[in-house]
Amino acid sequence: MTTSTKSLPKSKITKRSFSATPITVAYGDGIGPEIMGATLKILNAAGAKLDIEEIEIGERVYLGGNSSGIRNEAWDSLRRTKVFLKAPITTPQGGGFKSLNVTTRKVLGLYANVRPCVSYHPYIHTKHPIMDVVIVRENEEDLYGGIEHQQTDEVVQCLKLISKPGTEKIVRYAFEYARAYGRKKVTCFTKDNIMKMTDGLFHKTFDRIGEEYPDLEKEHWIVDIGAAKLAETPEIFDVIVMPNLYGDILSDVAAQITGSVGLAGSANIGEGFAMFEAIHGSAPDIAGANKANPSGLLLAAIQMLVHIKQSDIAEKIHNAWLRTIEDGIHTEDIYNSGVSKEIVGTKEFAEAVITRLGMLPQKFKQVDYGDGNKDFNIRISEVKPALRELIGVDVFLQFKDRNPENLASLLSDVESYGMKLTMITNRGTKVWPNGFPETFCTDHWRCRFARDLQQGVNYQVVIDLLQKIHHRKLEIIKTENLYVIDGQQSFSAGQGQ
Ligand code: NAD
Repeated sequence: MTTSTKSLPKSKITKRSFSATPITVAYGDGIGPEIMGATLKILNAAGAKLDIEEIEIGERVYLGGNSSGIRNEAWDSLRRTKVFLKAPITTPQGGGFKSLNVTTRKVLGLYANVRPCVSYHPYIHTKHPIMDVVIVRENEEDLYGGIEHQQTDEVVQCLKLISKPGTEKIVRYAFEYARAYGRKKVTCFTKDNIMKMTDGLFHKTFDRIGEEYPDLEKEHWIVDIGAAKLAETPEIFDVIVMPNLYGDILSDVAAQITGSVGLAGSANIGEGFAMFEAIHGSAPDIAGANKANPSGLLLAAIQMLVHIKQSDIAEKIHNAWLRTIEDGIHTEDIYNSGVSKEIVGTKEFAEAVITRLGMLPQKFKQVDYGDGNKDFNIRISEVKPALRELIGVDVFLQFKDRNPENLASLLSDVESYGMKLTMITNRGTKVWPNGFPETFCTDHWRCRFARDLQQGVNYQVVIDLLQKIHHRKLEIIKTENLYVIDGQQSFSAGQGQ
């Protein structure tokens, strides 16, 4: 046995054995300690070579006054090992506590969230007997920047940010993953019929990078119909890549329809770090009862073993786990009448997997992780400085009168070097000029000032304009510059414009 465990802070400086890979482990909250105990016992029995540093995160850390749920010495451990096997944690109810998962993913640059969602029919009950989908979710951007503001009495805003390098990394990751694991098709879900610039960038990047992978089939679905198809006919999908929010929601849907949320593991991969966890939470309702299914965390740990190039051990455990499921040794959450032979607890399930180490599944396809050499070629293209011409500004105002004509008459003679009012929208819909009286208006207005001639101005012109608006006693809540970039209008039109 080569797995050794060290707890921080006692073992802040650890003596490493040369053959073992250092990893950081957190036992988490609720069922966390039980499923982590079971998982490590199986890894140990299979001969995983791990040098473990244990950290405490989660509920006790939060309630001890640390609003991020993780202490500095835990970050130090993660910086040392760069590999994190994490059990679920409980986020205490009430305000002020930041999501530890989102923080860890963003701070450590874990840009790719990889969730294999597989059906184990007929052993585990599912409406979808043929399902083997890998969701690759972008993990750092989109609406998860957490940049939110109350802008007016009536309107709050959350910023959706999509970057060229961020998108290129995740799209390349999906293609590289598909190629490395012998997958045939990569599908992209976006909503670029509505969000033409943000989701449009994601879709265009998918098409552009996809050309470098002629061996793989490619397709794009608008996310709403794509989601419906995924829920109805998951067998038509293989690898799916998505921006953060859609990936968050749909990877839970995909995991759930395989049979149990307790079955799925996930990998969060970055350039220098990686975190592996079950997708489910800390299940306080069954904590301490020896009822939890450790499979989600075990399958995440198998992803970790492949990542740290111990794929022979990963393969051994995965095949033994499949055999256990085939033999009808099931935890309560996956009890399948007429198929399950024995309902066991967390500990007994782990023992059953250990007993089968070295055995292969008889009905399921046996797992083969090859030589484990799965280095992906993730690079980002240089983004050349563009020719940017400032041609106007969107000025956002709080204005209590719901009539756009009254706002327009207050602004109609405000001008700065030929930049004048061309449009007013309310929640994105054009209400002036020629708006519809039926359109409901809030107190949040966008007033677009632009020049007739598409000629650039400098920012001083915008400052002069803002001063004039300010002198009208109107409340400016934010501005957005309007650019023509490399000859292309680089802002959206108003709906109805
Ligand atoms: P949950 O996933 O913990 O539980 C949902 C249901 O699934 C419960 O009935 C539970 O008993 C069952 N379940 C979950 N995992 C199981 C397993 N391995 N075996 C058998 N049954 C299992 O979701 P929740 O109840 O909404 O959340 C509980 C806590 O977990 C909350 O504090 C939440 O913030 C936290 N959470 C943490 C993570 C994480 O750390 N990654 C993720 C999600 C939720």
